[in-house]
Amino acid sequence: MSSDKNQNIKTRFAPSPTGFMHIGNLRTALYSYLISKSQGGKFILRIEDTDQERLVEGAADVIIQTLKATGIDYDEGPGVGGENGPYVQSERKEIYLEYAKKLVESGHAYYCFCTAERLKSLHDENGFGGYDRHCRDLSKEEIEKNLAEGKPYVIRQKMPLTGTTSYVDEVYGEVSIDNSELQDQIMIKADGFPTYNFCHVVDDYLMGVTHVVRGNEYLTSTPKYCLLYDAFGWERPHYVHLPLLMGKDEEGNVSKLSKRHGAASFQDLVNDGYLPEAIINYIALLGWSPKESTEEFFTMDELKRVFSIDMLSKAPSVFDYEKLRWFNSEYIKKLPDNEYEAKVMPIMDELCPGNINKKKLGALLHTRISAFSEIKDQIAFVINRLPMGQELYTNKKNKTTPELCKIILEECLPVLCDATDWDNDSLFALLKQFSADTERKAGAVMWAIRIAVARQGITPGGATEIMEVLGKEESVSRIKQAIEEL
Ligand code: GLU
Repeated sequence: MSSDKNQNIKTRFAPSPTGFMHIGNLRTALYSYLISKSQGGKFILRIEDTDQERLVEGAADVIIQTLKATGIDYDEGPGVGGENGPYVQSERKEIYLEYAKKLVESGHAYYCFCTAERLKSLHDENGFGGYDRHCRDLSKEEIEKNLAEGKPYVIRQKMPLTGTTSYVDEVYGEVSIDNSELQDQIMIKADGFPTYNFCHVVDDYLMGVTHVVRGNEYLTSTPKYCLLYDAFGWERPHYVHLPLLMGKDEEGNVSKLSKRHGAASFQDLVNDGYLPEAIINYIALLGWSPKESTEEFFTMDELKRVFSIDMLSKAPSVFDYEKLRWFNSEYIKKLPDNEYEAKVMPIMDELCPGNINKKKLGALLHTRISAFSEIKDQIAFVINRLPMGQELYTNKKNKTTPELCKIILEECLPVLCDATDWDNDSLFALLKQFSADTERKAGAVMWAIRIAVARQGITPGGATEIMEVLGKEESVSRIKQAIEEL
């Protein structure tokens, strides 16, 4: 490993388990992981579940499974352990209270005993209006008395009233805010749980996070977090805020990627037939580009080598389903036969009746699908005899007409009925011989049969391949039907 790498780098992914794994979150996890791994550093998963009202059961498992499925493996976190655990915030409640009290002692935070009614009265009819710092300067005696009486309290951050707070974001550059705009935000709530605004700072510090990588919705609240670092006397981390991931609707309007643009979660994309490798490759490029290269294909290992913060873009990226489809088709093509079969055979088993040669059918589709979800439509002609128009029998190049096709089908029917071997090669040899014997163009014979057995113009394979898939009985029966219809 070259010496200019910063192996001490430590990043984290800190999702709130509030639902499915949004593609935007997955990209944040991926970038955070790659920023660290490209330097030989460490990566943490931390579950931020202190907002008990927004918790969704099972959501943390979905996050963990998604990271597993995509190869984003964490060095510390739930299930893996590590010296800085626990990695689930609800299990760290006592730690936050202890640290909040330290700030009370040093004069950077204070107890607030305001009742809900009082706070409500500060809001206008729209619910806006900040806290008026009523408890900021309570006397020591008053505080002690209230605590002794067991009055419910929150702990608030004591913001400086003048001056500005700034930091330099690795993507967006300098961010500055007037301290007068900062609210004395709550650090510890009345239920004893900390707020995100406070506990993530404590955790990032205690867990040794050097680079905080997250969505840019936190860009302007980060000065408040910087003030917490300063109050504790801790060194601030580097901040890497990532641009939003957008989606385009049918009218071409661009907005934050959501369900109405299509699948917006990792699991939905997988259900739609996309491969995790293709999803990862595609989203890696939604906000990052390789240095001095136009290469688009990257495995996770390659990304771990070439990813770098300086090639992150601050322009929002638009998620393009067409582009993902293209990546996916390339990834499906590249799958070794055995891996492809392992994915395709369960689908075949579910969709195909017993007489179909599923293995052959699956193989025919290997280079012809861009998502596994397309299979159902692609093989509809195998499962059902589709209604068809006679014009399909007309083909200029092979000089076929419905009339000629009828003759060909009548002539070759007995030959096919006598066939003993029903695989592609044997059928091909048989029909070649038949063409020679009847002095008909092989192309015309193949055309007539392919249309008769497939009952559609475009097929994933030639006449003999389709017959192999359908089996002898079904193929012969379809040819008989075609003759009757012609
Ligand atoms: N739990 C926060 C979220 O999911 C994490 C933000 C951060 O990474 O600091 O938005």
